This record gives sequence, C-alpha cells and structure tokens, in this order.
Amino acid sequence: MKKDVYHRMKYKSIAIDGPSGAGKSTLAKKAAEALGYLYVDTGAIYRTVGLCALRRGIAPDDHGGVVAMLGTFTLDLRHGEDGLQHMYLDGEDVTGEIRRPEVSMYASAVSALPEVRAFLMDLQRGLAQRQNVIMDGRDIGTVVLPGADIKIFLTASLEDRARRRWQELRERGMECDYASVLADMAARDENDSRRAAAPLRRAEDALLLDTTGNSLEQSFQLLLQTIKERLDP
Ligand code: C5P
Repeated sequence: MKKDVYHRMKYKSIAIDGPSGAGKSTLAKKAAEALGYLYVDTGAIYRTVGLCALRRGIAPDDHGGVVAMLGTFTLDLRHGEDGLQHMYLDGEDVTGEIRRPEVSMYASAVSALPEVRAFLMDLQRGLAQRQNVIMDGRDIGTVVLPGADIKIFLTASLEDRARRRWQELRERGMECDYASVLADMAARDENDSRRAAAPLRRAEDALLLDTTGNSLEQSFQLLLQTIKERLDP
C-alpha cells in the first residue's frame, strides 16, 4: 500500500514489531492505555489460526491442509469494555488457550504461509482505518501498515526474552523449564526471520528500542517518551 494513502487517513497508527518475548504486547498495551488508543495484538490472530489447525489435527507444515482450512472457520477479534482484546474461534472465546506453548509453534508455522498472511490482511488494516491504534506484530511497519505514523522495532537479547517468557508462563501456572523455553524461542526467531513471506525485519524508518537489562517500567517510560516526542514534536 502506498504511503500517501495512509497520510490521508484520519486516524493515527503506531506499529511495533520485534521478536517473541521482547515485551511488545505488555508495553504496547500499557502505551495504548496511556494514549487512549486501541491496542491490537496481531500475534493473537495468528495464534487463533494455529489453534484451529491444532484442534483439527492438521500438521502445521501441511501447506495444502492449512490453506484448505482457511474460510472453514470464523475468527473474531473483539475488544471488551476493559479494552482487552479477546479472540473467538467459531464463536468460542479462546483468548487463554492460544497462549499455550504448543500453539506458539503452530502459530509460527502457519504464519509462514503467504495465503494465511493474505487471509488476515484486511482484518488488520480495517482496524487501523476505524480508530487510533497501536498494533504489534512482526510485519506491521513493513507490510500491514507501511504508512504508520510511528514505527518501532522493539528487541532484547535472546536470553532476556526467554527468561521473561519463562517467568510469564510460570506465573500463569504452566510447568516448563527455562532450557526448553529458550530453545523454543530460538526456533521461532529462526522461523520468523528466515521465512520468505513477510519475514521479521526492522523497517528502514523504524526506531530501534533495545530493552535488554531494563525493568518493565524503564522500557515502558522509554517507549512512551519515544512515542510522545513523535506525536507532538
Ligand atoms: O506475538 P506472538 O508471539 O503471539 O506471535 C505468535 C506467532 O505469530 C509468531 O511466532 C509469528 O510467527 C506469528 N506472527 C506473525 N506476524 C505477526 C504477528 C505474529 O507472523 N504480525
């Protein structure tokens, strides 16, 4: 999509991309609250498609099977009164279930298919046309909203990201060991960066924010300040 199309848009959009576990969702959600923007977690959309494949027994590397599955299920994204994003698969709220570690690998595999990415494009762009959004993902600044008002590439070291994810899973009561979380994360980094369709990469005009060693609060202040400076220069 051409940049000038976005310049004519009424609403502001902020794109936040980066690898798994960089803190994108937590930080983007807090920033959206502070600014009164809608927060859109696009990873949750890919996770819902991954969950659908998992439930139907379709292997995530079965390209034909996954493509044939598209259009045979309903996927809805709704924001509750609390502003939180809920995902629905065939009418069922799967917001909690899509966080399971095995769904992460399915999401990463199905998201490598160009047909899956094309299938989800209108849903993502449509949200940015109706309100001010902070959208996080892997290809928001490069593909989904190339004309976004602000683009940020949020990252941290692999070890830091794995440690944060491991703590988060344990807090949710999911049993897992650090070594396997680290290995999963390295595998997803590899999948997300090497794929031909919309690989994870920093847009040329994206600002790089590295949160290695930062507390959540430090990263949040850095992100918010970066956004505010650019919204009201
Ligand atoms: O962000 P999250 O870890 O929930 O995303 C799950 C998976 O969905 C990622 O590993 C990535 O492969 C895929 N994804 C994507 N494009 C996006 C968001 C997520 O390919 N915009």
